[in-house]
Amino acid sequence: MSQLNPIAAPYTTAPIDWNAIRADFPLIAGHDLIYFDNAASSQKPKVFLEAMENMVKNSYANVHRGVHRLSQQATDQYEAARKTVAKFINAADEAEVVFTGGTTDSINTLAYSFGEAHIQPGDEILLSGMEHHANIVPWQLMAERKGAHIKVIPVLENGSLDLEALDALMGPKTKLLSLVWVSNSLGTVNPIPYLIQKAHAYGIPVMVDAAQAAPHMPIDVQAIDCDFLAFSAHKMCGPTGLGVLYGKRHLFEPLPPYRGGGDMIDRVRFEKTTFQGLPFRFEAGTPHILGAVAFASVLAYLSNIGMRQIEARERQLSSSFRQQLQQNFPEVNAIGTAADSVSVVSFLVKGHHPMDVGVLLDNQNIAVRTGHHCCQPLMDRFGIPGTVRASLAFYNTEEEIERFFVALRKTIQLLR
Ligand code: PLP
Repeated sequence: MSQLNPIAAPYTTAPIDWNAIRADFPLIAGHDLIYFDNAASSQKPKVFLEAMENMVKNSYANVHRGVHRLSQQATDQYEAARKTVAKFINAADEAEVVFTGGTTDSINTLAYSFGEAHIQPGDEILLSGMEHHANIVPWQLMAERKGAHIKVIPVLENGSLDLEALDALMGPKTKLLSLVWVSNSLGTVNPIPYLIQKAHAYGIPVMVDAAQAAPHMPIDVQAIDCDFLAFSAHKMCGPTGLGVLYGKRHLFEPLPPYRGGGDMIDRVRFEKTTFQGLPFRFEAGTPHILGAVAFASVLAYLSNIGMRQIEARERQLSSSFRQQLQQNFPEVNAIGTAADSVSVVSFLVKGHHPMDVGVLLDNQNIAVRTGHHCCQPLMDRFGIPGTVRASLAFYNTEEEIERFFVALRKTIQLLR
């Protein structure tokens, strides 16, 4: 764990029956498939299906607009889901939790709305060299519209951020720092609390891309003091098409809406429309009602296991994976060896395209991801076309890792 992470607490060691937990996931339990593509999307537990089924059978209707009983029940469940998310990330107020279509949608929303409110020609947005395209392109689109510029924190050879470059990159023109917490390509855990403190010392608000952090560690938005934070439900055992944009009320609420229609209005006239406050201001149209309600059940399930326990297990699995890879496979180059990392291990088999490795692993029933992982600037930084990425979740096992290495050995022999 990073020395720069002052809020990290020691891990607990309460015994957990991880085999019983694995049995909760119908697509992997008892199947031969080794699923190491969790950073792309994670598998779904039975509670997710049960929550969907329960609502479909008992209390489904559109929310907010109906006087009838079903609509009120659905509204109660949808708003209860918002409360569950707020509790999960320790937001001060559930109105600070906006449901979106996912991390990409959250960042597009913020880039548009923040840009309209605060960005003038010549202003700067600070990103890092390890961002997912979802945390680059929305800012570029906004910067082009507004005449602003993108600045980039460099990435060091080991896949960590060059913190010494920070002071030279932050100044009066910097209007926002938008930064990934855990890299989806390298697994690097950035020292987010430190970076937020640093940016705040310059009066710069911070948006955290927590797409790969929220599935793997406890999130406390008040403790880290981030201004905005985004994540996707489908990477944390929940539904696709649902995400969260958290924002501190005093910064979030004054921003102009991104999309119009549905619950975001206060009063519509052809001359002028007025808008709701948080959270409805940013939830135009019918939301993902079933998804939000099922996601709340999944968050209760994860909280019941304990996010600290999940983090400890995933750190242990991925560091054991990383160690064995480095010790036993001289034919392999690990990409990203930062001291603090979780879940993701990226590598190349020397002299071979990652796609060939991925196909041969798939032939042995192992799902990994190959390619640039939506991080082309990061791949350019390392001068590589992409990597083979194994990304682990708490329901993976040491035994799967052993079987993976047998399959990797065979793959390397076949490639020769
Ligand atoms: N940010 C990071 C770090 C990611 O890993 C991803 C997805 O892989 C995204 C953003 C985009 O998430 P989504 O496709 O769910 O919007």
